[in-house]
This record gives sequence, structure tokens and C-alpha cells, in this order.
Amino acid sequence: MTELRFDGQVAIVTGAGNGLGRHHALLLASRGARVVVNDLGGSVTGDGADAGPAEAVAREIRDQGGEAVADTHSVATREGGEVIVRTALKTYGQIDILVNNAGIVRDVPLSDMTPDDLDPMIDVHLKGAFYVTVPAWRVMREQGYGRVVNTTSSAGILGSTHKSHYGAAKTGLIGFTRVLAVEGAAHNIRVNAIAPIAATRMLAVTMAEGDNGRRLDPADLAMMHAVTSKLDPALVAPVVAFLAHEDCPVTGEIYTAGAGQVARFFTGRTKGYYRPDLSIEDVRDHLAEIRDETGYTVPEDSGGEIAQLLQAIAASP
Ligand code: NAD
Repeated sequence: MTELRFDGQVAIVTGAGNGLGRHHALLLASRGARVVVNDLGGSVTGDGADAGPAEAVAREIRDQGGEAVADTHSVATREGGEVIVRTALKTYGQIDILVNNAGIVRDVPLSDMTPDDLDPMIDVHLKGAFYVTVPAWRVMREQGYGRVVNTTSSAGILGSTHKSHYGAAKTGLIGFTRVLAVEGAAHNIRVNAIAPIAATRMLAVTMAEGDNGRRLDPADLAMMHAVTSKLDPALVAPVVAFLAHEDCPVTGEIYTAGAGQVARFFTGRTKGYYRPDLSIEDVRDHLAEIRDETGYTVPEDSGGEIAQLLQAIAASP
């Protein structure tokens, strides 16, 4: 079996001082990539900063014979994103892989949501991905090669109580992924996303919220505690590394990964119901048909969806 390697390539992994990002960085480095280990080093809710985690992971990689440099800038500012990319260029002269992984979490019911809750969540997850990707993208476009892996979450894709700000930011990254996949196609840049499930300090916070009875029901919570030991974050890294590899054939896709299980999320479109003089009562009376998942399709992009609509109109008597 040929080993997938990253020799000669340079990767930036944001939020790589802890949890999932640390494992992404360790795996990429162990397969030959030179890695910028970025991490601000704050708390799981985004307070404070500490150079320790990024430096510790960069040291860990070097101790294992790999190449890594620590960077402790925040992804949540435009300047931070530019410095992170510049660190890669100054240290290693190129960027081939960007893993947007940095993240924070803090549950807040919507009725209590203040700008102080909302802004950091959007700044770190959504704007942070823009701030690092824009300067990296310029380099990738210029060289005609790049792999970007974004980190979304089932909390946004499927819903999760008291995470409207987190969920909105995370699903914003799906739009980001889909559009960049289209935009990057002509430049050999592939962009995909993962929705991880892993026992990190972040999952511990989510489960603690469940303990308050606000999120998970007791049966789900008991099961989560039982499977936590299987949710090794190292088991998400192979999915990220594959999506970051030159051989990765897909773009614009979303993979859910946890405990060694990998699956794909996709956006399906039901066959639907068509009537040229559609009324509100038609929607009521045909809701089952509108919702029926039999024969659903997965449009490739927004143009593909419009083509399906036109086909439905053409096919109607
Ligand atoms: P984690 O808290 O262990 O790691 C997140 C890292 O991001 C931390 O080291 C933190 O210091 C860093 N970070 C935070 N803000 C930053 C900033 N502004 N600039 C640079 N670094 C910053 O959590 P994790 O579980 O490893 O999460 C990694 C990613 O996976 C996050 O984007 C998270 O939302 C996502 N995620 C995790 C899970 C899960 O089950 N653990 C589920 C869905 C999504």
C-alpha cells in the first residue's frame, strides 16, 4: 500500500495547540509536511492568550524529527491572518495546505444573546477563516495548487440548543467551502469541510451543557459519556489529512468524522411539487409531496439547482 505523504509541502493548521488541531498538525508533520502550528492559546470560551500550546506542539513535532514553527496570532483579525500566512512564507517559502480549525464555544440562549457573545463567535470561526484564507488563497492561486480544509459542525448543520451564534458561524463555513470549491476549481485548489466529533475540552463543555438538562436528554448523555473514550481526536486527523492531500479527488464536500467513522453530509433537494399558479393552499395540501425524499437529487451547485427547476417546469403538462 502506498503511503500518502506531504514531503516538500507546507501546511498551516490554525488552533493547533490543543485538541483536534494538534492531531492534524502531528499527522501532517509525521508524513513530511512542514507545519505552521498556529494557536492563540486562550480558554475554550475564547478568553486570554498563551504562547505555550502552539510552542509545545511545534516542539513536539520537532522532537519527533519533523519541521514546525509556532505562531501565536489570533485568526480573528485581518492582521492576524496576514501574519500567520507571512510566517509560513518567511519560514518555508510556500503554502500548500490550510486547515481552518481554530474555534471557541460558549452556549447562550438566543433571548440572552448580546454582541459580546455573538461577535467573538463570528470573528473566530467565520471571519477568522476568511482572514487566513484570503492571503493564503492568493499564494495558492499564483502557484496553481492548494488544499483548504474548513471545520464546520453538526451543531449548525443539524441544530443544537443555545448555539445559534456558533451554528450560524459554522454553517457559514459551508457556504464558504462550496463557493471556494467552485472558485478554486480552475486553479487546482480543492476546498472541503469536516464536521468532527471528538473528545476535546470543547466537547467537554458541550456535554456539561447537556448535564444541565438543556441540550441532551439523559439517555443521549449517558451514551455520550460511554462513547467518549472512543472519540479520540487523532481519529479525525486522517480525514483532514486525506482532504489536504494532492490525491484528494473531491471538492466542496462535507465529511463527518468521529471515533474512526467517516461519512458524508450532503444537501439534497426533493423532487418537489410544481404548479404555475401556486397558492398558499397548494403548499398546505401538497406538503407531503414537497417533503417526500423519494428520488431526491444532490445539485452540484446553484446553477445545477436552477437547471432542475427548469426541467421540472418543462416536464409538467
Ligand atoms: P479545542 O478547544 O481543544 O481547540 C481549539 C483551539 O483553537 C484551541 O487550542 C484554541 O486556543 C484555538 N483558538 C481559539 N481561538 C483562536 C484564535 N482566535 N486564533 C487562533 N487559535 C484560536 O477544541 P477542538 O474540539 O479541538 O475544536 C477544533 C475545531 O473543531 C473547532 O473549530 C471546533 O468548533 C470544531 N468542532 C469540534 C467538535 C468536537 O467534537 N470537538 C465538534 C464540532 C466542531
